[in-house]
Amino acid sequence: MCAEEHYDIGSNTPHGGEVPLVPIVQVYAADAFGVSFPPGCDLLQVLWCPFDHGEFCYPLPQVHWRDSRAVGPVKATPAAPADAPRDYVPSPCVVHPEQVAEYPSWDLPEDLRKGLRDRFDQLERETGWLYWYHLADAPGIKLGGYPGWTQEPVWPDCAACGRRMDHLLTVASWEYDGESWRTWLPVEDREVVDGQETHRGEEGLAAHAAAGLMLGDAGGVYIFECRSCPDRPIGHWFDCS
Ligand SMILES: [Zn+2]
Ligand SMILES: [Zn+2]
Repeated sequence: MCAEEHYDIGSNTPHGGEVPLVPIVQVYAADAFGVSFPPGCDLLQVLWCPFDHGEFCYPLPQVHWRDSRAVGPVKATPAAPADAPRDYVPSPCVVHPEQVAEYPSWDLPEDLRKGLRDRFDQLERETGWLYWYHLADAPGIKLGGYPGWTQEPVWPDCAACGRRMDHLLTVASWEYDGESWRTWLPVEDREVVDGQETHRGEEGLAAHAAAGLMLGDAGGVYIFECRSCPDRPIGHWFDCS
């Protein structure tokens, strides 16, 4: 349950009372290649409160690491609050995790950016791929890698130890943007968008926005954690177009 101060979407109207959280991601360590699980835990669960919070107005996430062997009888998942904005309540999806290599885009240091500019230009001339768009960091909902920023990076620092937090999860509104599906969409999903001018067909939409979320203007919620502190405090941020 979320007992924080929350607001109806796009308004200053307080939404009173405690609100049941909605599930965002559940993944087992065996399926989450490269994700650092705390010792003794093999299950990651992320939930959020589907109303606006704070100055920047976004759903408030919670992260739970568990040992699945210690999980007893599981109660039924409570229904999302009837008045929760649909844009903040993800449609149920099954995930088929795939590990990909990423390189920094917004997070590329300025000197490297300048040093690599000619090579990026050459790459574009020879292949048509734009480094930032087609090759650097994956769009869509993802664990690990670089946050899928829409604006300048805002990495939170850990309040306990002062260290910059690590990126855990990006929850994006879309799985890809424009033509970036050509490099980032999983192979098995490409048939449904290949050859289509848009992703607006029913199958294309299912690949483009499988979770049915819309966070601000096609933005994302970024969830961070401090892996230096034993209790792994979390941080979060939101941006959009
Ligand atoms: Zn809340
Ligand atoms: Zn810390």
